[in-house]
Amino acid sequence: MSTSTLSAKLSIKLLLERLRQKSEVHTGYPFNLEFNYQHLIELLQYAVINLGDPFVEGNYGINSKDFEREVIGFFSRLYNLPQEDSWGYVTAGGTEGNLYGLLLARELYPNGILYGSEDSHYSVVKASRMFRLPFVQIRSQSNGEIDYSALHQVLATNRNPPAIINLNVGSTVKGAVDDVGKVVEILEDLKINRFHIHVDGALAGMFVPYMKGATPLDFERYPIGSLAISGHKFIGSPIPCGVVIARKSQVQSFDVEYIGSTDTTIMGSRNGITPVLLWDAIERKQHLFSEEVNICRQRAEHLYNSLKHSDEKALLNDFSTTVVFNRPGKAIESKWQLATYGNIAHIIVMQNHTKMLLDTFLEEIGILKPARTIV
Ligand SMILES: *Cc1c(COP(=O)(O)O)cnc(C)c1O
Repeated sequence: MSTSTLSAKLSIKLLLERLRQKSEVHTGYPFNLEFNYQHLIELLQYAVINLGDPFVEGNYGINSKDFEREVIGFFSRLYNLPQEDSWGYVTAGGTEGNLYGLLLARELYPNGILYGSEDSHYSVVKASRMFRLPFVQIRSQSNGEIDYSALHQVLATNRNPPAIINLNVGSTVKGAVDDVGKVVEILEDLKINRFHIHVDGALAGMFVPYMKGATPLDFERYPIGSLAISGHKFIGSPIPCGVVIARKSQVQSFDVEYIGSTDTTIMGSRNGITPVLLWDAIERKQHLFSEEVNICRQRAEHLYNSLKHSDEKALLNDFSTTVVFNRPGKAIESKWQLATYGNIAHIIVMQNHTKMLLDTFLEEIGILKPARTIV
């Protein structure tokens, strides 16, 4: 058998058919599948690569750094990071944003300790291993939010080493939002002033600014050090991507001192197409983001209200569209592509999940009676 030829069994036509079918009944992962970038197809003719820092031009001209800087500008305004102190870049996803934020923290505080709740995403644990940052796991409340009294207690016995704190804005499994205001109060109460707060907003970083009542993700009001979000989640993209933002003054302090170059990003050659996709989505749809968040939330409430009477595990956190419930069994889990964790599963309601689709799911798990057909 030759190893130099590709399998003839695979066909693009069949792949496209499978992708279409699977997209219709996908509910488990927080990916907005309702996007259209067909008008940007011509970009695929070029090797659009953004090398290193988006704010440094460099000699490779086939790039989209001007679009990337606009995207960073949008997110800086969204989280109130003052223009003059704003820095960031378009990442390969939430994970790279978390790696960047936690690496920045470690460079600022080489003997720091990383704290995060047990509901933190595995990329936070990955960062602690990659960067040899000691990780202290803090207990979570039952809704998945960090237990503030446990955090207070642990920090009280560790006032000396700098505290690097990862906060979940939308925890992966339960969609819980850690309250940055409460964490800042704890740091003030304990007079800890060497700290770095990294916000893992991969999931709900795009919900919170558009929801009433949430503690604002506000760099002016709170001493947030860095924030990561995923671009292929709420905004939607055929290529995974994300954004990380940080304070320029802090980034430069470690960049100049430790690296002495403009190699500020984790990846070297970076995707130059995703910044254009994000720019395009923001340009066309930013006036709809607030409405999209509200619609997803309403549909998540509908799903949760339908489940809660018969499912003691049913959960829907504030500022979230993640509906948790008892695992419905293998066949349903596989068809609807549910993510499962122990004995629970969740649906994360995104823009492409119509009420009708969610009702079909509820019918299949026996919560709703099938709609009567008119004969
Ligand atoms: C999805 C997610 C990540 C990782 O983001 P990727 O884009 O998959 O790399 C990190 N943290 C949380 C809370 C997430 O939901």
